[in-house]
Amino acid sequence: MPDLTPDEFRALGHLFVDAVADARAGIERHPVRDVVEPGTVRARFPREANEDPEPLAAFPSLVEAVTGDADTRWQHPGFHAFFPANASLTSLLGELLSGGAGAQGMLWSTSPACTEVEQAVTDQVARALGLDETFTHDGGGGGSIQDSASSAALVALTAALHRAAPDPDSGWRVRGVTGRERVYVTAETHSSLAKAVRVAGLGADGLRTVPCTPGSRAMDPAALADTLAADVAAGLVPVLVCATVGTTSTGSSDPVAALVTAARPYRAWVHVDAAWAGVAALCPEHRWVLDGVNPGPGPGVDSFCTDAHKWLLTAFDASLLWVRDPRALPAALSITPAYLRDAHSDTGAVVDFRDWQVPLGRRFRALKLWAVLHGQGLSGLRSHLRGHVDLAAELAERVRGHDDLELACAPVLSLVCLRSRSGDAATTALLERANADGRVLLTGTEVDGHPLVRVAFGGVTTGREHLEVVWDVLSARS
Ligand SMILES: *Cc1c(COP(=O)(O)O)cnc(C)c1O
Repeated sequence: MPDLTPDEFRALGHLFVDAVADARAGIERHPVRDVVEPGTVRARFPREANEDPEPLAAFPSLVEAVTGDADTRWQHPGFHAFFPANASLTSLLGELLSGGAGAQGMLWSTSPACTEVEQAVTDQVARALGLDETFTHDGGGGGSIQDSASSAALVALTAALHRAAPDPDSGWRVRGVTGRERVYVTAETHSSLAKAVRVAGLGADGLRTVPCTPGSRAMDPAALADTLAADVAAGLVPVLVCATVGTTSTGSSDPVAALVTAARPYRAWVHVDAAWAGVAALCPEHRWVLDGVNPGPGPGVDSFCTDAHKWLLTAFDASLLWVRDPRALPAALSITPAYLRDAHSDTGAVVDFRDWQVPLGRRFRALKLWAVLHGQGLSGLRSHLRGHVDLAAELAERVRGHDDLELACAPVLSLVCLRSRSGDAATTALLERANADGRVLLTGTEVDGHPLVRVAFGGVTTGREHLEVVWDVLSARS
């Protein structure tokens, strides 16, 4: 048999779990990021794969020998770069069950469990966040777990294109793009929207960058309204407006409700990209991240995305996408060759998640999120989020009291952007010096052409003592 027996798996599994536990337990003995030359790891591989089987019991130490000094440790508590990506041990347990089931949930009937756990869990999370019931499967909409916020944006755009130009006469109801479709973003919008526009074939002109309100990094609703009106007058077709809540660069947010109002006369789809910040809605004090998302008093948005794999303890990949019209994605994406025809699908009573995403096949991703909800509870998730928001507030307070550092903007949730008062070169040097220390990893960004240092708290094990390390490296004199 070209596999382990279940008993062999049991025995080896303990060794592998030990290796993971040891690596996590000892992670702070390593720098956050190893300094390596390109090609270092590849050079350790023989050209040819081994012809004969090798003992798997030795595999964890082989992996350690080949890769252990050439990593960037995303689960290190000193990782404050980009946005941290939580791969909690809790979620890894769910991931193990998911791999064990080995299910392929493309259709409801190919794994009713995979489909229905995903429906139930996305409904639970929607309610916990405070999303309107119309975003839930129970309430006539629905959530799905995409591989990434980038994919979520792409499928939302695909649904929006379909809605903008349905062609009832053809089996594939989206007419080909005409070059007149437009998608509205700001200079602060994540690059995944520009990528979605490219993938959808809208061309370079398809992306419209709407100005921000002067003095802010938030889309100007009046400028959006003007741009939409001018585009329609010029015979163009507004397809989608992307509002961001919590931009990657500085955490700024677009005024969702006002953008919905501006977009509504043109029937443009409004997608909210809250990839990082959206999960904060679990805490009532941060529920402002949903302003304008739900219907009432305004009409609400068409789709809302937040990543469980950034700040919600769930190992990559788990990006949550909710839509309020459950037909929108299948209408744009469903193609049924004979080999996928299915009696249950034909009844229309089930959800086939293949029609909510680009690939056909899909993993049982909901199990790792369910494990997190089960094992941490909403109260555990809230204290995880609050702990990091507190760290950011404390860091901001210290920066305010420092004679060389200053805040580049008010902290947002767990993100602090700062710079040196001595100018751009000093800010760039500050970032380099902080990262050279090895105990933290920070990334920079640029606002109005000036560099900033970002500190994004959010690691699963990042606590107060790690704030002290950040402060130590930032406040040290050059
Ligand atoms: C991280 C991020 C994304 C991309 O997330 P993926 O899930 O990695 O595709 C998109 N938008 C925002 C605002 C982000 O912070």
